[in-house]
Amino acid sequence: PLPTVFVITPTYARLVQKAELTRLSQTFLHVPQLHWIVVEDSPQKTPLVSDLLKKSGLIYTHLHVPTAKDQKLQEGDPNWLKPRGVQQRNEGLRWLREDRRVEAGADNQQGVVYFADDDNTYSLQVFEEMRSTQRVSVWPVGLVGGMKYERPVVEGGKVVRFHTGWRPNRPFPMDMAGFAVSLKLVLANPDACFDGNAPMGFLESSFLQGLVTIDELEPKADNCTKVLVWHTRTEKPKMKREEAMQAQGLGSDPALEV
Ligand code: UDP
Ligand code: MN
Repeated sequence: PLPTVFVITPTYARLVQKAELTRLSQTFLHVPQLHWIVVEDSPQKTPLVSDLLKKSGLIYTHLHVPTAKDQKLQEGDPNWLKPRGVQQRNEGLRWLREDRRVEAGADNQQGVVYFADDDNTYSLQVFEEMRSTQRVSVWPVGLVGGMKYERPVVEGGKVVRFHTGWRPNRPFPMDMAGFAVSLKLVLANPDACFDGNAPMGFLESSFLQGLVTIDELEPKADNCTKVLVWHTRTEKPKMKREEAMQAQGLGSDPALEV
């Protein structure tokens, strides 16, 4: 049987959330043997996400954990100030290690773990590339780090360095969207997780450092020469007219879910 791809997605309530999750879920519907682990950044599971998942047609697990207040980005903060989705990704890892083990039986360790933010763009091919991951597989990410792409550079089938415009001396100078880890490795290293206090740009490294060396990385996507995932970011919708209409008592119906 195909190894399952476990996709961990942190998500939080905002105007574009349903649009992002709709796009993502409809991509995932085209991927065989995918299990979506959606982790809400909230004190409770919300009806919007619960309903969307129920109707999605996907195999999923719905979790939630609120980001601690001192870790959370405040309105107006520059977005590089604090890493986002950290406790949510760690909650997804906890579920895989503790709860799923009980559900699936400890012997079933076939699988791959991928961290998919809700606003990125994923080709179907990237899931087939990662499915054969033995330890940690890697590939390019488009439109990230102020570059057209960042990627591991491969020579003789091995990653020898990284094409990145920024802090190339980080242990693993890669975006979250550019690697996947085998479930076996995740289970064999129960303490590996994301460190929310890691310096800027070191979040991916904080997780990967305990798991793998550069030499062991498995290049995918034609020796890292194809871009199959894009670090797209969605513009925040302007609500100027909405607010003006609201002031006149003519605002949009709050009961209508957007
Ligand atoms: N996220 C979250 N809580 C937040 C902000 C972001 O759970 O307060 C999630 C978001 O939905 C996304 C991931 O964390 O799946 C990364 O956030 P974002 O896309 O804003 O980061 P960037 O694109 O700047 O790397
Ligand atoms: Mn993003």
